[in-house]
Amino acid sequence: MTNNKKKAVIVGAGLVGSLWAVFLARRGYEVAVYERRPDMRAKGYLGGRSINLAMSERGWAAVEKAGIRPLIEKVAIPMPGRMMHAVTGDTSYQPYGKDGQAIYSVSRGGLNLELLRIASTFPNVSFYFEHKCTDVDLNNDTITFEDTKSGTQKTVESPLIFATDGAFSAVRYALQRTDRFDYQQTYLEHGYKELTIPALPDGTHRMPPNALHIWPRGNFMMIALPNADGSFTCTLFLPFEGEISFEHLTNDAAVVDFFQQYFPDTLPLMPTLTTDFFANPTSSLITLQCAPWQWQGRVLLLGDSAHAIVPFYGQGMNAGFEDCTILDAMYDEYNGDWSKMIPDFATRRKPDGDAIAELALRNFIEMRDLVGDPMFLLRKKIAAMLHERHPSFLPSYSLVTFSNTPYHQALKEDDRQNAFFKEILAIKGIEDNWEHNPEVEVIFQKWY
Ligand SMILES: Cc1cc2nc3c(=O)[nH]c(=O)nc-3n(C[C@H](O)[C@H](O)[C@H](O)COP(=O)(O)OP(=O)(O)OC[C@H]3O[C@@H](n4cnc5c(N)ncnc54)[C@H](O)[C@@H]3O)c2cc1C
Repeated sequence: MTNNKKKAVIVGAGLVGSLWAVFLARRGYEVAVYERRPDMRAKGYLGGRSINLAMSERGWAAVEKAGIRPLIEKVAIPMPGRMMHAVTGDTSYQPYGKDGQAIYSVSRGGLNLELLRIASTFPNVSFYFEHKCTDVDLNNDTITFEDTKSGTQKTVESPLIFATDGAFSAVRYALQRTDRFDYQQTYLEHGYKELTIPALPDGTHRMPPNALHIWPRGNFMMIALPNADGSFTCTLFLPFEGEISFEHLTNDAAVVDFFQQYFPDTLPLMPTLTTDFFANPTSSLITLQCAPWQWQGRVLLLGDSAHAIVPFYGQGMNAGFEDCTILDAMYDEYNGDWSKMIPDFATRRKPDGDAIAELALRNFIEMRDLVGDPMFLLRKKIAAMLHERHPSFLPSYSLVTFSNTPYHQALKEDDRQNAFFKEILAIKGIEDNWEHNPEVEVIFQKWY
């Protein structure tokens, strides 16, 4: 059955919801978007803190399709590689891909605001801010919202509901109460806290801006992404409990000592460290998997509501944006028949959600433990060399970050490359002779 009325409700005007509103509006749908927060177009988004995200190929593909790539490019800072900071303060740099390839630091709020602005230029999109979804009656196609300003309840009917209300989705909660709905959530033992390296008085950056900075420290790490205003947003990932953990960082002296011991090069760059540390929350990290992502071809979960992942591959938003591009492409394939398209999308896309969840967990190990390991660095060099020699060989990081290869295929390739590099790195004397080592080529031919 096609939705002849061409009407849809989107719950949640975050990154994915506001982008999906643009896609639906372009298809001629009358779209009502409900968001529990106030309208950020009126109040601005900065709120005193500058938080950024890494955007890569899948995100760009989506904003390009939505027609807003040039606007986002203006405020995106390319990060062609990662810069590792040792405890000694020494730095080393690894490119992420080949020349010209980069991931991009973009402001989360700036991107959300831009997407809302674009969506609101369509006369067929209406926004209802400060409307919190409290329930969905799946059998009667109705959603209940609480108007948080007045405290009143409102019930809205819609034949088509898209849930983009994030990891703690109220719409998904309604699905969770249906028969045979699978749901699993896993918290990491690590939490995170955002900190700031402010701009210099002349507005420039205190560290090289064209890199993602990493301070890998074994079981924990800190990263920093540049902002367009000259500052960096740092994120400290640390266990909640244990010997080295947030539980011991309870006063200014403990925080300064901790930074002096593990991140000494950052102390002179962070004049507001202790204030930020205690003003900003310590937040948790969750992986969330569920199935099916849909209800009877009428309700569909997109973005974090379907597949929230840990942030270590910088792919959560990218994956949510890719949901939109894939679903939009299916619209043509299915001639707009949501009753078939929604279940098929949910089935087809689910393995990709699961795969990126696994890859994101693997990348945590890579970032915190391995980027400082000489054998790991050697693997990266050999991978880059093999890609030069055999362009069809793409390191799995590039498949995830610089291509649109389905995530489940990228995961399979990651498994294969892990096994392949195990053999390569076991070659006797590989550290000293890798560039012209004939054994490397023999093993490569065996695997590829
Ligand atoms: C520390 C950290 C770093 C990250 N870094 C990256 C990165 O570098 N690159 C990347 O691609 N991804 C990154 N991510 C992931 C990314 O933030 C998410 O994947 C992305 O925000 C998901 O978008 P979404 O629209 O699905 O959900 P959200 O952004 O969570 O938006 C959900 C929206 O729904 C609204 N809402 C919630 N409940 C209700 C309700 N009941 N009624 C109405 N509205 C509701 C919320 O107010 C919000 O506006 C990171 C995540 C974290 C935690």
